[in-house]
Amino acid sequence: MTTIAFIGLGNMGGGMAANLAAKGFAVRAFDLSADALAKAEAAGCTRAASAEAAVAGADVVVSMLPAGAHVAAVYRDAVFGKAAPGTLLIDCSTIDVATAKELGAEAAAKGYVAVDAPVSGGIAAANAGTLTFMVGGTDEGFTRAKPVLEAMGKAVIHAGDSGAGQTAKICNNMLLGASMIATAEAFVLANKLGLDPQRFYDIASVSSGQCWSMTSYCPLPGVGPETPADRGYQGGFAVNLMLKDLRLAAEAANSAYASTPMGARALELYEAFAAEGQGGLDFSAIIKALD
Ligand code: NAD
Repeated sequence: MTTIAFIGLGNMGGGMAANLAAKGFAVRAFDLSADALAKAEAAGCTRAASAEAAVAGADVVVSMLPAGAHVAAVYRDAVFGKAAPGTLLIDCSTIDVATAKELGAEAAAKGYVAVDAPVSGGIAAANAGTLTFMVGGTDEGFTRAKPVLEAMGKAVIHAGDSGAGQTAKICNNMLLGASMIATAEAFVLANKLGLDPQRFYDIASVSSGQCWSMTSYCPLPGVGPETPADRGYQGGFAVNLMLKDLRLAAEAANSAYASTPMGARALELYEAFAAEGQGGLDFSAIIKALD
């Protein structure tokens, strides 16, 4: 049986580790939070006393941590030199491209096979095992990671070399942040010009303005499919998480001398909205700042 060390059992990692255990993997779970560890144990994982204890002798390490600094600290302190050479290392956290590439290179130099594999899909998809994984790494890394990731997701796509998974993730979320604001703006303008929002939706959703933010995640309550807007913008993907991804995109754009004016403007608007104390709402609530 394949033994997986799973580090980071928060909102996302908790459900992911539970799905691996349910699919028959032996999961040794570790988190700094005792509460998260207890939940993982109840879901069929074995509690590890430390990250080092979890990775010792494991075939695969999966991490789902908040940001690049956490991932770098865990890999450098508790994985490199502690996991056996040849171990497959899969980081599913959303982190900056530069750190992902650095850690990938360090891992390869130490004889590990490492991939970055951030996800699309929120907590519900993590719990249901329907995440999309975008994977950066070698062909060998992708081939070895695929069956593990398939136990937690509905799609596993090889984006390219080390760091390419994180690149795909932040480019996708930069596009999403900007398209949500543009969708919200269009609804606000249509309304102010006297056009019924449902009529506008009926027209735009089959016209050239159609996009995911409109037809799958409409920011206006009562229009389109049921979305966080219909639940007072609770649940879904928080403004603070969108902000984190837009900051990562801005950082990456800077380092690549890429011009991303819409991404930069989306970052400013989400920063201002979060500063008003709205960071915990779903990101489609940005429509409130425009209205
Ligand atoms: P979270 O804060 O709920 O979970 C992170 C967990 O990591 C916590 O339980 C924390 O105790 C643990 N942790 C931190 N440092 C640790 C360490 N040194 N050792 C062991 N455990 C440690 O965050 P989350 O919502 O689960 O997000 C995890 C990652 O997934 C982030 O990078 C986030 O950007 C990304 N993501 C989140 C969502 C979402 O909807 N929540 C969607 C897509 C991607």
